[in-house]
Amino acid sequence: MILKRFVIGKISTNSYVIHDKHTLDGAVIDPGDNSKILIDYIDKNNLKLNHIILTHHHYDHIGAVQDLKKKYSCDIFIHKKDLKGLKNPSINLSKKANRKSISVDANKIFLDNSVINIGNICLEVIHTPGHTKGSICLKVKNQNIIFTGDTLFNDGIGRLDLPGGSEEDMINTIKNIVSKWSDDIKIYPGHGNWDMMGNIKLRNEEYEYIMNI
Ligand SMILES: [Zn+2]
Ligand SMILES: [Zn+2]
Repeated sequence: MILKRFVIGKISTNSYVIHDKHTLDGAVIDPGDNSKILIDYIDKNNLKLNHIILTHHHYDHIGAVQDLKKKYSCDIFIHKKDLKGLKNPSINLSKKANRKSISVDANKIFLDNSVINIGNICLEVIHTPGHTKGSICLKVKNQNIIFTGDTLFNDGIGRLDLPGGSEEDMINTIKNIVSKWSDDIKIYPGHGNWDMMGNIKLRNEEYEYIMNI
């Protein structure tokens, strides 16, 4: 799997483009608000973009969905509990944060334990509510890599005070799911740098706070 990170927009959102180097099948995980930079990379590498995968519905992760869909006719994946927010500019916060509202639809709705195949890459969907009701993480099968969206950062966890946020859900997610991930798993978050799960367990104060509740 080839992985490329782009840091996009006012609040430095990570957009990841992954692809199978043999088949050139590719996916964008959270296309932030800059379709040009993503399209340039996808076209320069001759990727077949069939999948846009959204870790959750917030505006800073979905800005380029419409442009990419128009260009590549790809499928758009989101958890069913964040579908409403994807369409609703008040819930995805684009109305507040941007001058233009974002309202997009998804045609692939995943449930817990869905899998997505991109060439020979297999992504396993893990439902991790807390930051939003339909937040998900993506585990790359047979590799120690998890994309965590705004559920878990190297130095914190996602905000809980936005629409759909829930401290109770986040406590469950961290204690029952995230804390089970082994130390050698590499975390690729929605904001900030990647880190090893072992470091997060040692140094991430918000993670530690939740573990001690
Ligand atoms: Zn978010
Ligand atoms: Zn975000």
